[in-house]
Amino acid sequence: MHPHLKPLIELQAVDFRLIGIRERISQFPKRLAEVEARVTAARHQVAAAKEALLTGLKERKTYEMDVDQWKERAKKYRNQTGEVKSNEAYKALLHEIQNAENEIAKAEDRLLERMVSGEEYDRQVKASEAALKEIEAAVNKERQAIQAEYNAAQKELAAAEAVRAAAMSAVPEDLVDHYERIAKRHGGIALAEIRGEGCGQCGVHIRPHVIQQLQRESNEGFFHCETCTRILYYANHSAAPENSSASAAASAGDAPPAPAREN
Ligand SMILES: [Zn+2]
Repeated sequence: MHPHLKPLIELQAVDFRLIGIRERISQFPKRLAEVEARVTAARHQVAAAKEALLTGLKERKTYEMDVDQWKERAKKYRNQTGEVKSNEAYKALLHEIQNAENEIAKAEDRLLERMVSGEEYDRQVKASEAALKEIEAAVNKERQAIQAEYNAAQKELAAAEAVRAAAMSAVPEDLVDHYERIAKRHGGIALAEIRGEGCGQCGVHIRPHVIQQLQRESNEGFFHCETCTRILYYANHSAAPENSSASAAASAGDAPPAPAREN
């Protein structure tokens, strides 16, 4: 195996972990925003309920004034009945009094409706405030849990970055550049293990003589996949203990390259 391939494989393994950690970290703002949105929605509910209650109270005030005004008018007309001289004027006054009585009844009906719905608004305010308290308590816990997860992910990130720096120091600078150029173009994965007779990343068939070369312990050449351009390597799983075949199968597909094994 090429002497620099082993540290490159280690570099690839830690990079693969870094992709996962960074992906998780990138989800945190969204997760926090979702949690905050629940509190905001509950606050809006409280505000809307309070607004409805306030509007109801204002309307109630208006209807109370209507009742008072019509009562005042009816009283005034009644007082005038003793002063009228003609029968016609008396009839007209009676008509006005009746009209005022009707308006009083209507305004009182509206007032009663407002008072009933006012109680309902009051209940809604209390219910939405209680719901807000519950949601705030739940969200506080979730926020703490998310923060703890975030801190753990940051620690993991720092640890993986330290491992990466160590792995990188074992690879010549120009090779690191080469590796990073390929990784940048291919979703952070610059290495591909030979699997069967194909590239473990893109699946394209690899020419047999390339595989033979890579299998040779004395090999010091680099080979690239002709399709995805990733650096190819061969890991001899069959030389490893029994249970390794299961782990090799499990790591098939877009999994990180398996660690190199000594032949
Ligand atoms: Zn490939």
